[in-house]
Amino acid sequence: MASQTSTSSRANSIQEFAGKLHGELIQPSDPAYDEARRVWNGMIDRRPALVARCRGAADVVACVKFAADHGLLLAVRGGGHNVAGFGTCDGGLVIDLSAMRGVRVDREHLTVRAEGGATWADIDRETQAFGLAAPGGIVSTTGIAGLTLGGGQGWLRRTHGMTCDNLISADVVTADGQVLVASETKNADLFWALRGGGGNFGVVTSFEYRLHPVGPMVAFAGPVYPMEQTAQVMAGFRDFVADAPDEINASATWWTIPALPGFPEDLHGQAVLITGALFAGPATEGEVRLMPLRQLAEPILDLSATLPYTALQQIFDPFFPPGQLRYYWKSLYLAGLGSEVVDEIEAWIHSRPSSLSMASVWVLGGALGRVDGGATATGERGAPYLLEILANWAAPEETEPNVTWARSFFAAMERFGTGKTNLNFPGLGEDPRFVRAAFGRNYERLVEVKREYDPANLFRLNQNIDPRDTAELGTGG
Ligand SMILES: Cc1cc2nc3c(=O)[nH]c(=O)nc-3n(C[C@H](O)[C@H](O)[C@H](O)COP(=O)(O)OP(=O)(O)OC[C@H]3O[C@@H](n4cnc5c(N)ncnc54)[C@H](O)[C@@H]3O)c2cc1C
Repeated sequence: MASQTSTSSRANSIQEFAGKLHGELIQPSDPAYDEARRVWNGMIDRRPALVARCRGAADVVACVKFAADHGLLLAVRGGGHNVAGFGTCDGGLVIDLSAMRGVRVDREHLTVRAEGGATWADIDRETQAFGLAAPGGIVSTTGIAGLTLGGGQGWLRRTHGMTCDNLISADVVTADGQVLVASETKNADLFWALRGGGGNFGVVTSFEYRLHPVGPMVAFAGPVYPMEQTAQVMAGFRDFVADAPDEINASATWWTIPALPGFPEDLHGQAVLITGALFAGPATEGEVRLMPLRQLAEPILDLSATLPYTALQQIFDPFFPPGQLRYYWKSLYLAGLGSEVVDEIEAWIHSRPSSLSMASVWVLGGALGRVDGGATATGERGAPYLLEILANWAAPEETEPNVTWARSFFAAMERFGTGKTNLNFPGLGEDPRFVRAAFGRNYERLVEVKREYDPANLFRLNQNIDPRDTAELGTGG
């Protein structure tokens, strides 16, 4: 009888909660449940008790209050791309922002405001209608929320800085259900923490960014060299980027040509090194300035083109399909890119268990590097390069060798690193040591902001900053 009463009171409180929402409340018995609980990484298979598909800030407030009142585990899902699967949970409530994707460009003030569930494709579409862009990520289906809150780096990083450097303000629902504006002049401590401190401080229902003239046509270099020529190509690459202007945003990617239409059949399965770059200035100038990257050796294919910026932003989308593949991604900042570093990367690429896996070195510096490490929560900006280790595979039984490969690759590269990792590529978020290391001297201040805005750690499914942490406890390692 007692359990019947508690079952019916639970049903009543869920019904009452559903009544407060403008959006749908999806439960395990609903036909929409399986689709609603899914995130981008096919390795993540979690079963929340409730998924609230919010329609606005008022829905988000209702969700935060319900989770806090009932002691429910709370996940916040923006674009659902977090590799560790922080956008969902087992047994708790998911605040799903995927129905909140409105975007509005203010041409007069060169700003854009977008809702918390928008993707970069949503922003690029609206801003490029006016030849403008906010610096985002390099895959258009990624959510703006998680990417921005984690710092965010993409094709415009050297020209216009990290994504969070371009954030002007944010509307935030905090753990006590308040709706706050965070900006340089309002709740400035919260605004500082949001720029790199992850989803620790509340649910951002809308982001306002600074816009820059970009495109609409841009010059892209994409020469594809045989992997055996790595040493020669990377020696030339290093020289090229050493004195490159801020408009040049380059990366070197070790990859395997996939068996997909668009790639010549005789090259399918070939291991290659691509020196990709965007010139974020006039396309005609870019075609000339990027030419040396295409002449580092004899390319077997050249994907270089002058193309719409929106097309460049979507160029990698087909290789990272949602839900179909399993992913384990780690990333660390490199102190240099000498031949020893390059040899080590190449050796690890040769031993990859899955031909879908890849490694990429992004050239940093420029506008990104000029921001003081204490100006935003992201921490030090001085590293010249970022290494990304992307293990991608399909079959569940291949999980163990692929995860082990990525972890071992990462461990081997740590001796070339600055000690700082990129929290937007957190593996499964299993090693809290990296949270403290990533924030460096900003960590203690982040703990203080966390204590102020989320003392009970309601928002903990993220690269968590524990409000109980102290320098002595050192839970961040
Ligand atoms: C294919 C792919 C390409 C990528 N490319 C880049 C890249 O070019 N540059 C880069 O910097 N990163 C890149 N990333 C990493 C990406 O930035 C992170 O995975 C990020 O967490 C994704 O954000 P999301 O909103 O899609 O994820 P989600 O899984 O929805 O959320 C990620 C985290 O943010 C929190 N969160 C989500 N929405 C909100 C919100 N509105 N308010 C508060 N907290 C919220 C979640 O709780 C979770 O902790 C890429 C990832 C993928 C999968």
